[in-house]
Amino acid sequence: MLCSAEAESAWCCSCEKDLLIKDNGCPVCANVSPGGLICGHCLKAPPQVSSTIVPLHYQYPTDHLIRLFKYKNCIGLARPFARLIVDQLLRSNKLPDLIIPVPLHKSRQRQRGYNQSLELAKQLGKHLNIKTDYRSCKRIKNTAPQSSLSFKERSKNIIGAFSFNGATLPDHIAIIDDVITSGATINELAKMINPTGDKKIEAWAVAKA
Ligand SMILES: [Zn+2]
Ligand SMILES: [Zn+2]
Repeated sequence: MLCSAEAESAWCCSCEKDLLIKDNGCPVCANVSPGGLICGHCLKAPPQVSSTIVPLHYQYPTDHLIRLFKYKNCIGLARPFARLIVDQLLRSNKLPDLIIPVPLHKSRQRQRGYNQSLELAKQLGKHLNIKTDYRSCKRIKNTAPQSSLSFKERSKNIIGAFSFNGATLPDHIAIIDDVITSGATINELAKMINPTGDKKIEAWAVAKA
């Protein structure tokens, strides 16, 4: 998808080298943090998620691939994207017991025909043998795309965007999104499914903007 070479996956080995693999970020929020230490923001005000796994930087060619994945029906990208996330997991500890994709509002899902985060979650679930739960949470507010807003507007925009049916969930969960920008979306969903804060919630995504 990135050059004219023949490839078994969505991109060839030499293009894979162009994907900017992210390392040395804050282990909690994945923001830039020298030496991979927990960043000042997370120390001062710990977010809802205990760790963030995100293999790529949201830069060319990753941004191009994600746009194809999200808006151009290239659902097949879910598999190689999931592989990149799994590669980063091998270094971390215990796997979660449940995967929850960030839900799309039903009108947007109807328009798009699919939820890219669910497609990603399905591949991760298959790979890691973890159940995917796409029924317990819904997006009830059709929010403006986070990418069109400033950092501050993002956390406001997302408040009250989700509903949760109160299902009994395991104590260790990964929330899946395609791109993490400010982290506000996943944190809002985490707050919803873990109001008492006693569960361990991780954030997994393909890229960090
Ligand atoms: Zn290539
Ligand atoms: Zn941090």
